[in-house]
Amino acid sequence: MNLDIPYHLENYIGGNLIAPLSGKFIDNINPATAEVYGQIPDSNEKDVEAAVHAAQKAFSSWSVSPVEQRFKILNRIAELIDANLEILALAETNDNGKPLWLSKQVDIPRASANFRFFATGIMHFATESHNMEDKAVNYTLRQPIGIVGCISPWNLPLYLFTWKIAPALAAGNCVLAKPSEVTPVTAFLLSKICKEAGLPDGVLNIIHGTGPGAGEAIVSHPEVKAISFTGSTRAGERIAGIAAPKFKKLSLELGGKNPNIIFADVANSDVSWKKMLFNTIRSSFANQGEICLCGSRILVEETIYEKFKADFLQWIGKGLKVGDPLEEESKQGAIVSKQHFNKIMQCIDIAKEEGGKILCGGNAVKVEGRCTNGYFIQPTVIEGLGPNCQTNQEEIFGPVVTLQSFKTEEEALQLANATQYGLAASIWTNDISKANRVAAKVESGIVWVNCWLLRDLRTPFGGMKNSGVGREGGWEALKFFTEAKNVCIEL
Ligand code: NAD
Repeated sequence: MNLDIPYHLENYIGGNLIAPLSGKFIDNINPATAEVYGQIPDSNEKDVEAAVHAAQKAFSSWSVSPVEQRFKILNRIAELIDANLEILALAETNDNGKPLWLSKQVDIPRASANFRFFATGIMHFATESHNMEDKAVNYTLRQPIGIVGCISPWNLPLYLFTWKIAPALAAGNCVLAKPSEVTPVTAFLLSKICKEAGLPDGVLNIIHGTGPGAGEAIVSHPEVKAISFTGSTRAGERIAGIAAPKFKKLSLELGGKNPNIIFADVANSDVSWKKMLFNTIRSSFANQGEICLCGSRILVEETIYEKFKADFLQWIGKGLKVGDPLEEESKQGAIVSKQHFNKIMQCIDIAKEEGGKILCGGNAVKVEGRCTNGYFIQPTVIEGLGPNCQTNQEEIFGPVVTLQSFKTEEEALQLANATQYGLAASIWTNDISKANRVAAKVESGIVWVNCWLLRDLRTPFGGMKNSGVGREGGWEALKFFTEAKNVCIEL
């Protein structure tokens, strides 16, 4: 299999790599160097139409294929991702700006894990039966929906792309998938991997392009029966506006403004304190803070606020080198694009205007050598802002966190819940009853107690409030990608 990356990427439609029918392309930029290093199709409704035709042709056999066959093909895709880890990781880093070690340790292994997980999952996916004693028996069929659309963001490109595609394919659907136009390369390489793994032509179609162009053409096509979307709340609202009146099934995984609640008792043990600090550094700045699950609002009990602040800043100063993503010692790489870099810098300016005090960072970083024009920002910590200001309300999605203090458990909860978002929360305490009480009342779809980003793929994943609708993960994903049909037989 040839995994060379051509200058002009192509769509994957009906098993072929083809130039966009639109005839248009968009620049692809390496954010660490600011260089244009390729072009991607700027697809439109003609490309989507071609993909729908290919998917329709493939659906009649894929939808009734034995689960063993789907298992074997998806598992083979997982093996090929693992076998090409180095190539995929480098492509991800060049596209996204994240450190290469992170792409190798997290992004690419998780992409193969997604395929492996749903390959095996479909082998065990069972449906319910409801017996009405001697009157009747009901059984529920869960049949593939048909053609489904999967649209993913740039922050964890192959990781989130495959998180949607794998269950959709496992459940017997044909897929139209669009990666982010900002990070298209690993999705392009996945086309070749799927072909090599023997995925029948037309079962998966990968269309590159912008949200308003290719994305909306997928969402509005009448033959696309369900949309699984991960991205911003703004785009989610737009997509829901198009899809809901057409009664399409919708799963929306959107933005977050997650609280990280630290109770004073953590300071009683050196072990828990260090563990909390280590994970708070991760939850604040991992992947340049560009993870929807990052804890961007750190809430600290008043009695340990100064101690936390001092230790947190010291750890950041010692250990968080911002640098060339290809260098092993760089803990943080580049921000994904110039546009996003400008947005984050603007958010920092707004925080200052709102009266926030910059405790560390707040500036762009000049990285010498090949990265001199790249988009790098220092890890930034801000204090002195109340819960209602823009900085504590709107998602920044960068290496920027705020500190707020609280006096009581009730106040911690009030602060935690004081946003329109409800994706994830972390709670740090050695008091299990307190953790249990707070977890029950915090308004978020995911709660981590004394940990962060500890993921079990079987668990429900998703947000409440403006963080989304529906849940992914485990059976939830396979249920989303199937239509439940109850059959009642009178005896
Ligand atoms: P984005 O919404 O700009 O784009 C996401 C994807 O949607 C891209 O492929 C884009 O081309 C497409 N898109 C944009 N507008 C569209 C439209 N009108 N119709 C169809 N498709 C459209 O988001 P982004 O900037 O790529 O990613 C960052 C956002 O994603 C953040 O808000 C982050 O919190 C969120 N996110 C959420 C999760 C989660 O699981 N909840 C995970 C990762 C990222």
